[in-house]
Amino acid sequence: QVKQRGRNDFEFFRNEMRVHITTLLQLERDLRHAVERDELEVFYQPQMDLRSGGLAAVEALLRWHHPERGLVLPGDFIPPAEDSRLIVPIGEWVLRAACRQLAAWRADRWPELRLAVNLSPVQFQQAGLIDVVRSALDESGLDPKALELEVTEGLLMDNRDITLQALADLKAMGIRLSIDDFGTGYSSLVYLKRFPVGQLKIDRSFVRDLLEDRGDAAICETIIALARHLDLEVVAEGVERIEQLDWLREAGCHRAQGYLLGRPMSADALERRLSGGVGLLSLGSA
Ligand code: C2E
Ligand code: MG
Ligand code: MG
Ligand code: MG
Repeated sequence: QVKQRGRNDFEFFRNEMRVHITTLLQLERDLRHAVERDELEVFYQPQMDLRSGGLAAVEALLRWHHPERGLVLPGDFIPPAEDSRLIVPIGEWVLRAACRQLAAWRADRWPELRLAVNLSPVQFQQAGLIDVVRSALDESGLDPKALELEVTEGLLMDNRDITLQALADLKAMGIRLSIDDFGTGYSSLVYLKRFPVGQLKIDRSFVRDLLEDRGDAAICETIIALARHLDLEVVAEGVERIEQLDWLREAGCHRAQGYLLGRPMSADALERRLSGGVGLLSLGSA
């Protein structure tokens, strides 16, 4: 009996694996064509300037309109895209599309608007990254000072020359380097001195319970103080409640991003919801 069950477990495991692997391969094959078939779309999530209450920046967040699966979120396709290195052409497409959109918005509507784009560590392993960034800026005419590139702490653990050189080159171009999900990785604080970091993004796991959990509140306060002392900008992610927004403003946080202020949305949707001088808060999308 035990033997029988062991066998069944094994069969079960093997089937699960097979399903998993085929799905991944299928996903990868579909993803390979996604750019050329025009299935990718950049969504934009607003960030509020906590001093003025105005729109400070938008973060570009990738969406995939899959012909059969419908809307696929990055959590499901970025990891396989990184494994297959498809993130390189996809990341390049995102950067070009978002820079073009931002240049148009700055010309027509919001002259001071800034753009945040996520970069995968895989993109840093490839020699062409700097040329891609430079040409996305040239092509669109976007001011490099309006661009923030978000990387995670893991990248700063990478001591390869190619990464260090790329970060130095981006900084020299006037681009701001932003540490995403700050506080959840493994990097030591030394990296904040060693690398040309310009901004920290407090991870939403610390923001979520900050009103109830003294530990989370202490972490948020500490990150904000650290940013102030190092002359860095600080953005809080995952703000869903007005009380969190008030707390962060009081604590001296510069910017906030989260569902309270707006979910990631298409360029058209963002324009519609912010037209006619409606403030960011009145568009909260609960
Ligand atoms: P991230 O860069 O930390 O982006 C923030 C994520 O938090 C987004 O998820 C956003 O929709 C979500 N979020 C924002 N506000 C709230 C809130 O108030 N509550 C909750 N529960 N969630 C909130 P999304 O769009 O699913 O993206 C997930 C991750 O995928 C991103 O995390 C980023 O690491 C990655 N990603 C997205 N687009 C790209 C891209 O173009 N390139 C690369 N390399 N990675 C990307
Ligand atoms: Mg991000
Ligand atoms: Mg983040
Ligand atoms: Mg996050």
